[in-house]
Amino acid sequence: MELQPESDDQPAIVPTQVIFHSIAAPWTPQRIYEYWRDSTNLDCHFGLGYDGSLGQFIGTQTRADANFRANRRPDGTGAVSVETASNDRHTDPWTDAQVAALIGLGLWLHRTHGIPIRVCRSDSDPGFGYHRLFPAWSDGGTACPGDARVRQFHDLVMPGIAAAAAGAPVPTTPAVPVPPAPTPLPRRRIRPAIYRAIGV
Ligand SMILES: [Zn+2]
Repeated sequence: MELQPESDDQPAIVPTQVIFHSIAAPWTPQRIYEYWRDSTNLDCHFGLGYDGSLGQFIGTQTRADANFRANRRPDGTGAVSVETASNDRHTDPWTDAQVAALIGLGLWLHRTHGIPIRVCRSDSDPGFGYHRLFPAWSDGGTACPGDARVRQFHDLVMPGIAAAAAGAPVPTTPAVPVPPAPTPLPRRRIRPAIYRAIGV
């Protein structure tokens, strides 16, 4: 879902960081795309729906405008930004499908751009982070992505990316909700499979 003219006009970056956000709206990737296209001159690289569906709006070697000073630093490095569907106060946790998709995307960014699997130690340090981690990443401060998701970032997403990079299978992310089975799907069997896969 390429955003134009931004994707062609904005300057190149060398991506060294990944920053996760909550968009404070329960939107699909299509709706996030329409918001960037129609309602603001801001943008991000990726948008993630509650069901794990992922959209891309800007190339990962082009600046996107969701992280203030981390969008593109004077040395040409910058952050890849990932907006995620949330409730309107971004207080809810990521769904299992979102956690799985973030792990898969994080693995891809690690392999494609060499982004180290660690939490950024400063606002310019290569690695992974979330929006409120450093004041330089927002204009005037933010609670984004919310307490529940900060916990999941540390407890599930980062360990999951590390496990996937070490060879564990990446959790599957159905793009549409799984329809009800004739006999109810035993949730106990699904959830442990996800958490086992990400090493938790
Ligand atoms: Zn944010």
